[in-house]
Amino acid sequence: MARTRQQTPAPSPASLAAAKPADVQRLVEELDSMLSRLRLGAIREQLDGLLEEAAQRQPNLRETLAWLCAAEVASKEQRRLSMALTIARFPFVRTLESFEFDAQPSIDPGKIRDLATCRWVANGDNVVLLGPPGVGKTHLEVALGREAVARGYTVQFTTAMELLGALVKGQQQGTLEAKLAQYSKPKLLIIDELGYLPLEPQAGHLFFQLISRRYEQGSVLISSNRPVEEWDEVFGDQVVAAAILDRLMHHSHVVTIRGDSYRLREKRRAGLFRTPAGGSSSAGIGGLPPPTPAKEA
Ligand code: ADP
Ligand code: MG
Repeated sequence: MARTRQQTPAPSPASLAAAKPADVQRLVEELDSMLSRLRLGAIREQLDGLLEEAAQRQPNLRETLAWLCAAEVASKEQRRLSMALTIARFPFVRTLESFEFDAQPSIDPGKIRDLATCRWVANGDNVVLLGPPGVGKTHLEVALGREAVARGYTVQFTTAMELLGALVKGQQQGTLEAKLAQYSKPKLLIIDELGYLPLEPQAGHLFFQLISRRYEQGSVLISSNRPVEEWDEVFGDQVVAAAILDRLMHHSHVVTIRGDSYRLREKRRAGLFRTPAGGSSSAGIGGLPPPTPAKEA
């Protein structure tokens, strides 16, 4: 197809010096469309304001250009970030800033801040978060995932049920290869809530295939309410569980959280439940006693 769009001639420095005022004026009139063609939307939209701001400082041409480019870079980075966060499919917004370390003394804040640098993602290492319900595992997964997105890594969040459901379905429908490829793609795959619900008999084998593919290539951040010693029960197969753990734990950082559910803690504060006997951090992994309703006064 013939190009009908009129191409604006690009003036070279020599021709700009010699250009007639009418030619320069024509180029200025074309500025908007040239910026669109170059996909410099932020400069195009903010040009008047940016030039006004810049003029107040009387910058030279190079400084003005740097100023405009910075606006474009900031806008592109913002768009990249919001797209990457959409693709990651986090269940909610949680950040490290909003995590109260005082509420969960079994967590070493230094270790989490170190993980927030995402060196482990760069190295293809894994992180395993263990602890009873409500202690902040998903919160930390989302917060660390967002740190990885901010550093330019591709991230995908899923639950163990969703992931294994997709792999089982893939196997039944002859699309397992595509599913394995899909979950192998992101640099960081976050798998939430392993161990909460019983898995299908073939789930362990499929999970092993995925973990093997990702081994030393991409990172896995996985959370579970069951200690790793119980994963053979989770997968219903000792040999498969051992093979999964062998790869997952080879280059890994394990964070074990002990203590009360943050949700119940809030409720206890509000007087809805009694504090369990033995203090605030008596519960082990999966060992949180069922909450006792507070007696009616
Ligand atoms: P888990 O995944 O371990 O079951 P969640 O991460 O879902 O627990 O935490 C339950 C709720 O409590 C979430 O809304 C989370 O943001 C909040 N929460 C848990 N721990 C903390 C904490 N230490 N500081 C702030 N909020 C927390
Ligand atoms: Mg959770």
